[in-house]
Amino acid sequence: MLNRREIIQTATVGTVALGLPTLFATPQAAAAEVAGFTLPPLPYACDALEPHLDARTMEIHHDKHHAGYVANLNKALAGHSDWLKLTPIQVISKLAELPEGIRTAVRNNGGGHANHSLFWTIMSKKGGEPRGDLKKAIDDSFGSFGAFQKEFGTAALKQFGSGWAWLVPGKEKPLTVVATANQDNPVMTGAAAPILGIDVWEHAYYLKYQNKRADYIAAWFQVINWDQVAANYHAAKKG
Ligand code: MN
Repeated sequence: MLNRREIIQTATVGTVALGLPTLFATPQAAAAEVAGFTLPPLPYACDALEPHLDARTMEIHHDKHHAGYVANLNKALAGHSDWLKLTPIQVISKLAELPEGIRTAVRNNGGGHANHSLFWTIMSKKGGEPRGDLKKAIDDSFGSFGAFQKEFGTAALKQFGSGWAWLVPGKEKPLTVVATANQDNPVMTGAAAPILGIDVWEHAYYLKYQNKRADYIAAWFQVINWDQVAANYHAAKKG
């Protein structure tokens, strides 16, 4: 049994030991407990998609542009720790709930983070064409793979200025093509999360293709990771 004096000593030592991190904690350190969003690494080397997408473009696009969206999203949501725990898609699905003062910054940079996080994963050197359920969904929705490519490619080409074209699970058809401006994403207007998307900002192609967006789109079709798109499709169907 401890006597009263020993209990007080033990308690004091315990308090001091436990108290140390608190003593040195600053408000910044406390905020840092919610880590915020991080830049996902490219799932392949920068030159993996050559010659279709050049290494220098991939490097700048990922390391500078995408990194910038992540940094600015964290800046915009600093102090909103509940939001920092969400996925980027969850964040941009409920922009209306954000304070107006940061809504545009989160829309642009949260969109940028969500869109590019998908973009890297749906490309691969392997290329090819969709198979199985996804092929059937594309055929049912567009008539054929060729008809899909035409509709998707046209949406990407005709998007005025910066933006994206997407393949999105739909209600009336299994899949639909949607284009959005800037870093907007179909989930911002209540649609399902896209399973495939092409970035048609000039930063995605200008070094190699300059003003020839159609050539970039044609090249990009050679590096679609259809296995990942199929996985995204199956995940969307499960809800
Ligand atoms: Mn981009």
